[in-house]
Amino acid sequence: MKAVLFDGEQVRVVDDLEIRDPGPGEVLVEIAAAGLCHSDLSVVDGTIPFPVPVVLGHEGAGVVAAVGPGVGHVAPGDHVSLSTLANCGACADCDRGRPTMCRRTIGRPGRPFSRAGRPVFQFAANSAFAEQTIVKAVQAVKIPADIPLTSAALIGCGVLTGVGAVLNRARVDRGDTVVVIGTGGIGLNVLQGARIAGASAIVAVDTNPAKEAVARQFGATDFLDSVDGVRGLFPTGADHVFECVGSTALIRAAIELLDRRGQAVLLGMPSPTAQASFLPASLFLDKSVLGCRYGSSRPQHDIALYADLYRQDRLLLDELVTATYPVEDFAKAADDAKHGRVARGVLTF
Ligand SMILES: [Zn+2]
Ligand SMILES: [Zn+2]
Repeated sequence: MKAVLFDGEQVRVVDDLEIRDPGPGEVLVEIAAAGLCHSDLSVVDGTIPFPVPVVLGHEGAGVVAAVGPGVGHVAPGDHVSLSTLANCGACADCDRGRPTMCRRTIGRPGRPFSRAGRPVFQFAANSAFAEQTIVKAVQAVKIPADIPLTSAALIGCGVLTGVGAVLNRARVDRGDTVVVIGTGGIGLNVLQGARIAGASAIVAVDTNPAKEAVARQFGATDFLDSVDGVRGLFPTGADHVFECVGSTALIRAAIELLDRRGQAVLLGMPSPTAQASFLPASLFLDKSVLGCRYGSSRPQHDIALYADLYRQDRLLLDELVTATYPVEDFAKAADDAKHGRVARGVLTF
């Protein structure tokens, strides 16, 4: 079968990938569509170290082809959107509704694929850039069949991360004030999460003025090209500031823009050795700085919720997809993503 494979030197589309049968608790999924996220390109450029050879892709949707022993929540023919969270479902963190904190989710890449008899790694417990992949039962979430799979493919990364940060981590409440710094794939989903949560004012900040229309479409009530203007709109500060760029200067700015009891949520990814500075005194008035992994999501609950909100026209998915490419055109899709020509490209199979 076809897949996008990175061998440590180059990334290319191969057509001789093989996959084993699903084992106990696993689901074999026929991928229909998969979003191209920067994390896939980060594997290729070395920012995310990963063992090779590896099949890329980590946000996808498709149709269940087969289930292994013990899987009862989905059946062949069901449409599913996939999460990247292969949480165990049985530890104390999973048990208290924190699957993103499951210690068994990271650092144990599986090898369900092979090429010419040699095993091939799976990226992010997912590898959606293949005609078929195998995921754990907890990762396959049934969605209504009337949702286009090209749109459902995006739920598993950007939407879970951005909307989840608002609803699960920050717990934005009706009437709260929100600032979103950076309106890329995550920022747009933070904007629509804030709209869904009922925030009274949602300020989008992006240095690219061409982003204003799409930011407003996703929920921004105001648009600024610099954080400097935020105080003019919120003289006492904001309840929630989401940093979606990964800039240490903007992390400091986010903290300085907080109102009393406000919270800064860090979603951008600075380099692992970057240091940010801030005045501890600026936090004394019950302010906090929050990290957030994968939208603090509970995929079986959240993906089903977001699919519902999409059908009620309250969550935008189609608008996130700016281009679709047959998988053979991966190189063009990667080039478009690298140069910012698309908000989100989706590969189809
Ligand atoms: Zn991603
Ligand atoms: Zn667990």
